[in-house]
Amino acid sequence: MPNATTSPALSILHEVFGYSAFRGHQAEIVDHVIAGGDALVLMPTGGGKSLCYQVPAIARHRAGQGVTVVVSPLIALMHDQVGALEEAGVHAAFLNSSLDSAGVQHVERELLSGRLVLLYAAPERITHPRFLAMLDSLHERGQLGLFAIDEAHCVSQWGHDFREEYLQLGVLAERFAGVPRLALTATADTHTRADIVERLSLQHAQAFVSSFDRPNIRYTIVEKDNARLQLLRWLRDEHVGDAGIVYCQSRKKVEETAEWLSTEGIPALPYHAGLEAEMRRRHQDRFLREEGLVMVATVAFGMGIDKPDVRFVAHLDLPKNIEGYYQETGRGGRDGEPADAWMAYGLADVVNQRRMIDESTAGDEFKHLQRGKLDALLALCESLDCRRVRLLQYFGEERPAGWRCMNCDNCLQPPARWDATEAARKALSCIYRCHQHSGFGFGSGHLIDVLRGQSTDKTRARGHEGLSTWGIGRDLSEPQWRGVIRQLIALGHVTTEGEYHTLALADSARAVLRGEVAIELREPREPTPRSRSRGKGSTASPRKLPSMAASLDVDGQARFAALKAWRAEVAKEHNLPAYIVFNDATLAQMAAEHPGTLDDLAGISGVGAKKLEAYGRQILRVLDAG
Ligand code: ADP
Ligand code: ZN
Repeated sequence: MPNATTSPALSILHEVFGYSAFRGHQAEIVDHVIAGGDALVLMPTGGGKSLCYQVPAIARHRAGQGVTVVVSPLIALMHDQVGALEEAGVHAAFLNSSLDSAGVQHVERELLSGRLVLLYAAPERITHPRFLAMLDSLHERGQLGLFAIDEAHCVSQWGHDFREEYLQLGVLAERFAGVPRLALTATADTHTRADIVERLSLQHAQAFVSSFDRPNIRYTIVEKDNARLQLLRWLRDEHVGDAGIVYCQSRKKVEETAEWLSTEGIPALPYHAGLEAEMRRRHQDRFLREEGLVMVATVAFGMGIDKPDVRFVAHLDLPKNIEGYYQETGRGGRDGEPADAWMAYGLADVVNQRRMIDESTAGDEFKHLQRGKLDALLALCESLDCRRVRLLQYFGEERPAGWRCMNCDNCLQPPARWDATEAARKALSCIYRCHQHSGFGFGSGHLIDVLRGQSTDKTRARGHEGLSTWGIGRDLSEPQWRGVIRQLIALGHVTTEGEYHTLALADSARAVLRGEVAIELREPREPTPRSRSRGKGSTASPRKLPSMAASLDVDGQARFAALKAWRAEVAKEHNLPAYIVFNDATLAQMAAEHPGTLDDLAGISGVGAKKLEAYGRQILRVLDAG
């Protein structure tokens, strides 16, 4: 509860949002912006960026400094964001193409009247001459309080979400001098950051850089065997009834996978840029509003999706780079509860990604950059040590030597290693011999047959059974050989060429052949047995930290279920996703603490003054009946 000693920002946090304390850099950012400073906020997904501009917006509006304009590229999500603010008693609106002219006029009237606290709009709307003129008139009257530029990395051509319209936002700095500007993003690389500063004229802005660690996300990268089946087994083992996202590279694979999961009894929807806009909107809406749906999607899906209870993000194909991977996986577990990031990765992924870069029409500098990024990702996939250490290192965060997160596959089940130096030399000489004998190169399948001395039509027809490398690798299994070759490609000792992905030696292969480079590989893992971690006392892999809801006793569970049913009704009535009414963590705390009075209820995190007034009595009734 606010009292005389709390700051205005803190009382807004208590009163409007029902939260007890700011997280991480939030307090500093909020104070800096309320005082009129410009800021650049780099925070991982789920870190709590929205409050960084919502609290200042309310504070500045209360101080008579007018409206906050929020630039967002995501028209489809504005409705829910505004809905959430109105639920919390904050007057907000959006301007986008979904409004008819009467709707637009109404919002414009609210804006000019000074009643509006926050206005969400797309960049092209904001930089439209007519709208700029409206902002001019507010500015003249001192009624333009703040600009918040969300997803600010869209301004960078180097990023994966470049939006032309974002470039126009440079105009805000000159035209509305004196109005503080706040740019926010979850993309951390220095290149993108420099672009944001330059394009948005934020040279004098204070930068607030948070740790990019997401401790509640468990990272797992498995070797691809039959990726779809591996995924299914894993979903049935770990994520029955959970909402999650499955990323695939191609549209075709998205559709096939969604259909296949559905036939396997896992409710799944496809999403990719080739689907009709109406269908995309419907699928996204269902994903946000219904519980336990799986979205199978290309990377076209996800930016700005603030559904807090996404319990897993799976990659059936290798993502493009670590930035992309981290943003995509970051969509899991925004509520701070345990979530999984799972990826299946194999030889074909490496070959495909390398080829896509080589064959693209981009300039050499760009290709060089992309290759470097792919190498970093491959190193993550092949790593034998803590995945989180690697990820954070990539974003410039060092952990002490030997530090382990204990929430990634490599920390939880350290992989068995084997010295593959000799095997690598055998593979390289086999690639060399086959090429020398036939005058052209061969793909990995054939090479493994030769190494293992497996007679096929092709080994006979090519006369490769008489080579000195025929059968020199009988001691290793096929998956082991695939691992060796994959590693050689990942490390750049072997290149792939042409449409048949034939293998060739790179210059650096010589050092390996001479035995000057040691190569260590992870032992291929047997497919994870079912229910490996469900059994009590299982030592295989500790189950994720229990979520609040899971730790409720029987009565608590019943109250939780009753609250969820009540929430679903309210959400439907208000046409909002359920988590906007109250999120799971808030309901779980209500179920656990079983408050008997409105005062007790007000003490629960996530219950602000407006929601207490609107729903308090109903909730107490639901709790009493349960
Ligand atoms: P981001 O935009 O950075 O991905 P959000 O702003 O959507 O993250 O916040 C993620 C979740 O964390 C939301 O459910 C939000 O309500 C919650 N949250 C943010 N800040 C706090 C806080 N100080 N106390 C409690 N919950 C918070
Ligand atoms: Zn780890």
